[in-house]
Amino acid sequence: MYRWRSKHREEMAAKSREYYAKHREDVRRRAYCRYWENPEEHRAQRRKYVARWRSKAVKAAQEWKKRNPEKVAEHRRKYREKHREQRLEEQYQRRIRKRLGVSAGSISPSAIAQLLNAAKRCPDCKCILTSDNRSVDHIYPLSRGGLHTLFNVRIVCRSCNSRKHTNIPEQVPLGSFGG
Ligand SMILES: [Zn+2]
Repeated sequence: MYRWRSKHREEMAAKSREYYAKHREDVRRRAYCRYWENPEEHRAQRRKYVARWRSKAVKAAQEWKKRNPEKVAEHRRKYREKHREQRLEEQYQRRIRKRLGVSAGSISPSAIAQLLNAAKRCPDCKCILTSDNRSVDHIYPLSRGGLHTLFNVRIVCRSCNSRKHTNIPEQVPLGSFGG
């Protein structure tokens, strides 16, 4: 029976579509009556059906992911790429709020993206910047009350950024920060 059904699925679907098109009003009225004969039961059935369908869909998605790990990785990579600047900004905002208890400026993700893309060489060590080694540096460090604004950031390589830590560069006058 099951076999027969799966073999003739298309046929059956076409037939029932045809029937429905011809008897639309009847079908609807009957369904409506059936529903109101026992609405509770119908709603319960409906919930069951949806739950079963949903768990089936979830399972199918999980299996697809298992079968296509490289597609999943590619999708994740693209997602991360697309949201990189947004994430960066959120990270800064979190850090600032944690340290200062208030927000201290903001830079739009597109402005950060522009800065990052325009930076070709690290201003400190002169190495070539790539998407892997570039990082946003706060000239006057956030930990010392520096603001997260376009005037207080520059793009340096990661190793220079971590080396600098929280030292304030001497050549930068304090009065030039803010926003
Ligand atoms: Zn550097």
